Amino acid sequence: MTGSAPGHVWLVGAGPGDPGLITVAGLTALRRAEVVLYDRLAPHELLAEAPEGALLLDAGKAADNHAMTQEQINTALIEHGLAGQRVVRLKGGDPYVFGRGGEEAMALAEAGVPCSVIPGVTSAIGGLAAGGVPVTHRAVATSFAVITGHEDPTKPETQVDWARLATAVDTLVVLMGVGRLEEIARALIAGGRDASTPAALVEQATTPKQRTVTATLATIAEAAQREGVRAPALLVVGQVAALQPMLDPRRLAPLAGKRVLVTRSRAQASTLVDALRLEGAYPLVLPAIEIEHRIDAKAIDRVTADLRAGAYRWVVFTSTNGVEVFLDALQEAGADARAFAGARICALGIATAGALADHGLIADLVPTEAVGEAVVTSLLAPGDLNGVRVLLPRAEGARDVLPDGLRTAGAEVDEVTLYLAAAPAEPPQDVLDAIRAGEVDAVTFTSSSTVKNLATLLGGDLSPLRGAVVACIGPVTAETARSLGLEPDAIATEHTIEGLMSALRESLHSGRTAAAKEVR
Ligand code: SAH
Repeated sequence: MTGSAPGHVWLVGAGPGDPGLITVAGLTALRRAEVVLYDRLAPHELLAEAPEGALLLDAGKAADNHAMTQEQINTALIEHGLAGQRVVRLKGGDPYVFGRGGEEAMALAEAGVPCSVIPGVTSAIGGLAAGGVPVTHRAVATSFAVITGHEDPTKPETQVDWARLATAVDTLVVLMGVGRLEEIARALIAGGRDASTPAALVEQATTPKQRTVTATLATIAEAAQREGVRAPALLVVGQVAALQPMLDPRRLAPLAGKRVLVTRSRAQASTLVDALRLEGAYPLVLPAIEIEHRIDAKAIDRVTADLRAGAYRWVVFTSTNGVEVFLDALQEAGADARAFAGARICALGIATAGALADHGLIADLVPTEAVGEAVVTSLLAPGDLNGVRVLLPRAEGARDVLPDGLRTAGAEVDEVTLYLAAAPAEPPQDVLDAIRAGEVDAVTFTSSSTVKNLATLLGGDLSPLRGAVVACIGPVTAETARSLGLEPDAIATEHTIEGLMSALRESLHSGRTAAAKEVR
């Protein structure tokens, strides 16, 4: 795309690793980009936010293997900018913290390409915080310095004055220093910093692989070697490092740092994913169900006509999917919400009632227990069901407890099949690998189909999940898990996402105390 006017380049700080830590402004620029030039340290999940068809260029920048030299990067930015394109230069952390962002902005200015800097959360501060080390702390540290460890502190021509820095500020944060920990520590001690000063390393901060190692200035290099700490990692030296065990995220919240499998359909996963992320967990999304429509147009026409004629006393919705698909089908058939005028509506679960409300339909009955048996009892309460016509829109292969119960009570049940909760054809391989490698701390099931389909995706066997905490949205889902050899650890008392979150929290919390007791 060429234009006569120059485009614009945004130098965007992508944050330290968690894709949620980009700024709103950065994300806005990314969502409008025509070209994205990204660094190795910028979270790759963010690339999915670029518009379809955007040109994605890997600028590399691994210490040893440069995909592009800085020269080539500058040239590419200028060329795409002069061609009139909207270019996002996506950089790890903040663009101006050891990111050569300043050089890129200068090169663009010289070439006459407009450019804006969108700051980011630097790993030097945000990465440390995520690892449980506050860069300042009242009465402990009132100053800090951020230093590059890339330079060899043993060489006289080094630009970093380690001796002067050693005691100049309370907290020293060293980036790009894992390869030279021993030299750095020695230079700081030689400069007068006490060898017993607390020190810590935060590896892969804000990612599921985050790890922290604590020691002293004298022993940190050895500890790093023992633990096999690798780049990217942050070294922090100072009294604040001693606070790490107290402020470790996993100590502050039960879900922090936990990898939690989400099995809902992609369209429905977001509420649970957001709730998990907000509490510091890492959701692994494996949509175990895909909604395949199974609509029989003739059946819908017949049911619609009956519904409009007021032939049904009750319409019973058992899931949000049922609501969405039925109302869509109704609309296709030329009807709208007025078709329900002569019927009463029953919704199983408040999520289902909420989906109805989104369409302007208020459920007359929301049984407190959303399982089939209890629903029949609730429906009987307002009156005899003998000879009463009930419309039951539902999924293919759903349980028969409800229709059977209604029929036993004398009702005339019209079941209309709407969809099949099928296993997806192309599940994400990386998540399946993580499950098989035992890298999942907890798994969440929001319906029996999610349990069954996950078993199918895993080749009929749920045993790779035995080590994980198993959380189910309700007793029916729990029973399905049990029948497939997976014992639930947590069953939500309120059958909603919030209920599931509470159950998960409690289970992980008590699990942690149990583990702590074992150690003692
Ligand atoms: N502009 C970046 C820093 C680039 S230099 C920023 O503001 O964060 C690269 C160095 O940053 C790495 O060698 C490492 O020391 C540090 N770093 C970046 N991301 C990190 C992360 N997620 N965890 C630990 N260290 C990280």
